[in-house]
Amino acid sequence: MILWSNGKFTEGNYVSTFNFALHYSGSVWEGIRSYRLELNKSAQLFHLTDHISRLFDSAKVMRLEIPYTQDVIREACRELQRRNGDKELYFRPIVYPLKDAESSTRKNKARVGVDIYALPLKNGFKKTGIRVITSSIHRSYPEINMQCKSSPNYGALSELKDQARFVGVDDVLITDHNGHYTEASTANLFVVRRDKVWTPPNDGSILPGITRGIIMDWTKAVEKKTTKVDLITASEIFITGTYAEITPVIEVDGYKIGNGEVGGITQRMREAYFKQVRNPLWPGIGGV
Ligand code: PMP
Repeated sequence: MILWSNGKFTEGNYVSTFNFALHYSGSVWEGIRSYRLELNKSAQLFHLTDHISRLFDSAKVMRLEIPYTQDVIREACRELQRRNGDKELYFRPIVYPLKDAESSTRKNKARVGVDIYALPLKNGFKKTGIRVITSSIHRSYPEINMQCKSSPNYGALSELKDQARFVGVDDVLITDHNGHYTEASTANLFVVRRDKVWTPPNDGSILPGITRGIIMDWTKAVEKKTTKVDLITASEIFITGTYAEITPVIEVDGYKIGNGEVGGITQRMREAYFKQVRNPLWPGIGGV
């Protein structure tokens, strides 16, 4: 697989097993999709500027100083797309300390590496809806920088996702330290009840997703803390994210949500989203 690694296109990059990030975590990354445009069938990265800007914010939080401008990273992504033709891809830029693990501190400014992978897309979540469980542990404290996309934040998420798979469902809804539901393992949460749409607040316990922003705009969703009863009695639930796109949730802890089928607002959001990603100039929809 061809990747962009520290300024060059290459076939592979291998860091030492004594790399700081392998021992103490501390890298940051992004997930970006490209879609083939309806207009000319060329593949274009969706919301590239927003993703790269979030990458730089995450890097700052983790004390990683990226030795390139945002322009250089964006152009590297576009060039990687060109080298892969017009295939729809999933891009994974990663920023990591080029530092040995002899000490746990990030305080001495480490040299920083940046690689960008472009992978073929696997099938996403089922469009007929997914079944989820609620989290067995409280995971997010605002103090641990949940708002950035850093590797330490994914430790508990991977474990919880494994628990979901182990009991035979697709994903898990995570709680914050007060037991409110915040997001899914790699996607944001939306709840619909009697045509009112809400999403858990950006209060330090979620990654404020780029897809979340688009859907909030379209649905005029408000931010509201979400309890287990809110979930069980919702008429619709869906999750949003670059990978998840707009995925209906039809069952939580064995409770059927609404009538157990994809709800009307969820369906409308799915259709609008798939139109938007392949027609970036489309102005979107105003309200549900
Ligand atoms: N929350 C978490 C924890 C995630 O990993 C993701 C995926 N990046 C999201 C939410 C959704 O964010 P986005 O819409 O920007 O992909």
